[in-house]
Amino acid sequence: MIVKIVYDNKALQGFKASWGFSCFIEHSINLLFDTGGRYGVLKHNMKKLGISLNDIDAIFISHSHWDHAGGLKKLKLKYEGKIYVPPSSNLKGMKVGNEEFLPNFISTGEINGEQSLIVKDDDKIVIFTGCSHNGLKNVIKIAEKYGKIYAIIGGFHGFKEIELLRKYPLVMPCHCTKLKRQIEAFPNTIECLAGKVVEI
Ligand SMILES: [Zn+2]
Ligand SMILES: [Zn+2]
Repeated sequence: MIVKIVYDNKALQGFKASWGFSCFIEHSINLLFDTGGRYGVLKHNMKKLGISLNDIDAIFISHSHWDHAGGLKKLKLKYEGKIYVPPSSNLKGMKVGNEEFLPNFISTGEINGEQSLIVKDDDKIVIFTGCSHNGLKNVIKIAEKYGKIYAIIGGFHGFKEIELLRKYPLVMPCHCTKLKRQIEAFPNTIECLAGKVVEI
């Protein structure tokens, strides 16, 4: 699995930084997780990462906040593939519960307006979160049912029990992580920046 950070508050040189989050997951299918806030930034960073609209098999929106779903409005005008949205949101798309909606791609189901993504890669489980308004601990609990958690990537919001994160091989706290600096001090952590490519 290859994960490309498309949108974050911080960016590598040549990429645009903006409040929000999006990443592109290349696996059994290619899925765009969230769309950031501003389409112009999303488009710029996608182009720099070599991702074209035709490469996207599915879009998964974690929650309807503008910094995660804002880019979708304009993206949708040119994209005809599947879009998975939180069931309670007004966004147009497919609504799923806690289920494997595409091979290897599982939604946690919506909790507190947000759904997280669980991706299976052989015996590894990788979690992708938007802001974690659904509570990272709830997400971990659901993901554990599918296998051993290898990595957690995305926003962790106000998650306080950060010591629990030490046991996972790879942790990437992105946009919207209150204790980002403290988590980044752990040796298993990678800094989240738009433009970054991680092989799992
Ligand atoms: Zn956010
Ligand atoms: Zn949010």
